[in-house]
Amino acid sequence: MIVMKFGGTSLGSADRIRNVAGLIEKNNDCFVVCSAMSGVTNTLVDIASLWKSSMIEEADDLLDGLASHFERTCYDLFSDSDTLIASTGKVKENFDLIRRRISNEFHQNDENWLLAQGELITSEIIALYLNSAGIKVEWLNALGFMQTGDDGEPSVKDIRSRLGQVLGNDRGGRYLTQGYICLDHEGNTSNLKRGGSDYTATLAGAALGADIIEIWTDIDGVRNNDPRIVEKTYPIRELSFDEAAELAYFGAKILHPSCVWPASSNNIPIRLKNTLEPEASGTVIRSDVRRKGVTAVAAKEGITIIRVRSDRMLNAYGFLNRIFAIFEQYKTPIDVITTSEVAVSVTIDNPCHIKELGKELEKLGSVMIETRQAIVCVVGDILEQHQDRAVRILDSLRHYHVKMISFGGSRNNISIVVPEEEVKEILRSLNKFLFEDPAGKNSAGVNIEKNSIHG
Ligand code: ADP
Ligand code: ASP
Ligand code: MG
Repeated sequence: MIVMKFGGTSLGSADRIRNVAGLIEKNNDCFVVCSAMSGVTNTLVDIASLWKSSMIEEADDLLDGLASHFERTCYDLFSDSDTLIASTGKVKENFDLIRRRISNEFHQNDENWLLAQGELITSEIIALYLNSAGIKVEWLNALGFMQTGDDGEPSVKDIRSRLGQVLGNDRGGRYLTQGYICLDHEGNTSNLKRGGSDYTATLAGAALGADIIEIWTDIDGVRNNDPRIVEKTYPIRELSFDEAAELAYFGAKILHPSCVWPASSNNIPIRLKNTLEPEASGTVIRSDVRRKGVTAVAAKEGITIIRVRSDRMLNAYGFLNRIFAIFEQYKTPIDVITTSEVAVSVTIDNPCHIKELGKELEKLGSVMIETRQAIVCVVGDILEQHQDRAVRILDSLRHYHVKMISFGGSRNNISIVVPEEEVKEILRSLNKFLFEDPAGKNSAGVNIEKNSIHG
């Protein structure tokens, strides 16, 4: 069994859906995970916020636009009148339901319910198309097996047991379900956060004991730097699970931040492939990758630095424990941490409880908060061969306002925290410094694994 996940851009039009159908057809035993058509979740987010502000007319306008987008896709996709009627009927049924619900007052759980409709409608259209084209597939509602626990996290064991009940013993054939959507521990419709279809795919892959998890997207694999910002990037053919997890967590948008662990803990390779160029090799993520030198750079914006300073830290034990307990109380994960004898600085990416955190931390010392920061993360075997590599990487950033440095936590990562407005320049400058030297080795002594350079 293989898992195949298709992202929004790969499903963005009738042509793209046809193309994806051709890829699915090649596998008789597969578990297909679909995102919503591109742009749909963004529009649903806008509709939810209009609904929240009781701007129902404006919400209805956006909803009309979205309904016509789906209808047009059906007209482009289906030539046979029966399937065209069935698919447009499904679209109408779904949108009538959404309109009815929006005419009521907004309640807390409504937003997640609304966001789930994008994946549900998209996957129904695709399943209809596949079956009408003779590519037999069974549509599954992901809400029947994808659920998070009371810690807000999904568990492979629970998903395995629910999927077991849904699929029964007869596991052969093709299944198609939605990415991103799930139930929370109370049974309300919820999701795995933006970009969460990758996470659905790896969770399902782990639960099913898949041979491989394929993530099909609009680019040829994971690149050595952010292609939206840096011109000369190239695909990385192989990544270790650790490297991929660091890149995903620290901002490489191609992978959901949490999607690597289900695959790594079950030792299932992930292959990233390009739906527009299916023959291209893409990237394989697996355990036994030996690295020489720096692999890639990524950046994550929207970071807040919190600094706590206290003379009571001197020679005291238990101080860090008290700080961490406060973050635990407000369920706020810490990303980067640096300490000195009298101060601790941490970064968070979820500022939801920043006021409460500040208030509690002030009981321990003076607190300084800086918003609009970013983490730039250099991944690879930083220590391999050249002990001075980290120093040289940092030296290349001497003209920027580096606020925090984290190095040595693992041998394959250096993270630096900088103001958000410097990120683009830093990514470009690191690209030149680390990867663009024509001789294949630059002044940092970094080996370049250059397969091709794409603009
Ligand atoms: P999908 O809709 O298939 O889930 P995403 O938009 O979530 O696709 O992810 C693919 C996009 O991620 C690419 O088009 C690219 O712009 C962006 N991206 C950011 N960093 C990287 C990287 N290091 N390598 C490849 N793509 C990246
Ligand atoms: N449709 C969701 C989003 O746009 C999930 C995904 O694409 O992975 O975030
Ligand atoms: Mg994505």
